[in-house]
Amino acid sequence: MSDHSQLRELVAQSCRVLGKLNLTKEPSGHVSARVPGQDRIFIKARGPGESGLRFVTARDIITVDFAGKKVQGEDGLESPQEVFIHTWLYRTRPAVHCVVHVHPLTVVLFTICNKPLQPLFGAYDPSGLRLAVSGLSTYRRSITVSNEKLGEEFAAAMGDKSACLMRGHGITTAGENVEEASLTAIKLNDLAEINYRAHLLGTPEAIPQEDIDIMVGKTRGGTKAVYSASSWRYYCKLLDE
Ligand SMILES: [Zn+2]
Repeated sequence: MSDHSQLRELVAQSCRVLGKLNLTKEPSGHVSARVPGQDRIFIKARGPGESGLRFVTARDIITVDFAGKKVQGEDGLESPQEVFIHTWLYRTRPAVHCVVHVHPLTVVLFTICNKPLQPLFGAYDPSGLRLAVSGLSTYRRSITVSNEKLGEEFAAAMGDKSACLMRGHGITTAGENVEEASLTAIKLNDLAEINYRAHLLGTPEAIPQEDIDIMVGKTRGGTKAVYSASSWRYYCKLLDE
């Protein structure tokens, strides 16, 4: 398999994992990857021939240029309306090689109520803690990011963060590779689920700053990539069930 077909397969696999975990509903949401060395991206298509995220295969992944125009892909498969979320992050952040945009219900509830996602856990999931402490930004508008101007505005609101909460809409995550951006979306959903359940149970309390400092420090360094690889294998294995 060529590098390009491997990358398209990986984007499709990410779609299936996020769909399997119910991080989006019906056919909404898309995952993309930067085509190495080109001003093009592979992205999960929308249109009359589209598949829901959970059922995506490499055929659903089309090639799109940095203007959001489809340059390669089957008939009936088109650029998502919100392709500008992706193109603007690739244009403005050279280190970003994957973008995920989905509509996870629990995270959306927090954006609707304007409640912060608090750092409520440490050792339970250090990478989720790090996301809560320093990885999040917010896009306050609730519209579809469907043109260049809105794409630029969205990318500015997201800044250099790994995830952006989109009010009454969903989330966007960005990473150096497909696995990282996908795991960030999964961890963000877990963070919201825990915050939600904690609010139902009582009055959640953030963990002490001293513990945050220790745990956030621990997730840096050489073990992060290995940790991500094993987590990613775990989620991919769920697709076999
Ligand atoms: Zn959307």
